[in-house]
Amino acid sequence: MRLLVVEDEPDLLAGLARALRKQGYAVDTAADGAEGLHAALGIDYDVVVLDVMLPRMGGWEVLARLRQAKATPVLMLTARDRSADRVRGLDAGADDYLVKPFDLSELFARLRALIRRGSGQAHSVVNLGDVQIDTAARRVTRAGVEVSLTAREFVLLEYLALHRGEVVTRTALYEHLYDESDATLSNILDVHVSNLRKKLGQDVIATRRGHGYAIE
Ligand code: CA
Repeated sequence: MRLLVVEDEPDLLAGLARALRKQGYAVDTAADGAEGLHAALGIDYDVVVLDVMLPRMGGWEVLARLRQAKATPVLMLTARDRSADRVRGLDAGADDYLVKPFDLSELFARLRALIRRGSGQAHSVVNLGDVQIDTAARRVTRAGVEVSLTAREFVLLEYLALHRGEVVTRTALYEHLYDESDATLSNILDVHVSNLRKKLGQDVIATRRGHGYAIE
């Protein structure tokens, strides 16, 4: 899953990006509203985390302009705990809302819910034969036994599972699972797919030659 975080406070922005990458997300960052809007229009992010008070273009305006073009899920961040802001945010097309300061665990939970909703998945648990993926707990079991996955392996599996029945192209995987900070060598999809097959069974992920990968 690829996220965009738009936040002008450098320490908070860096901290959020680091924490989210540790969760396995690909994270792009923008330090003002204009830069954020430009990025959000250019790439189909799975979620945009958008601060309200931003230089160059405020969060509300970024949201309004983004909504004219696409339905990317947006989680607004604000320092003000005012119900008027909350109503305004949801009216303006924000999908969720978090008041600063917030716990990272709360942000992670909201993001997981938005990503799930964005893919039309109502439940946090996905069953694939004897493999069970709990996207809320970020836990995978095979025949009831927990399987240890790296953060990257988990997000790859989760992305394919949330798009179950579709062929997901390599281009889409690169766009959604990797960000601008990723080094080329860590990006080898085939290695992650091969590791997932070793851990979960050869048939869990199908290769569609020339097209991409699919979970049936
Ligand atoms: Ca701010």
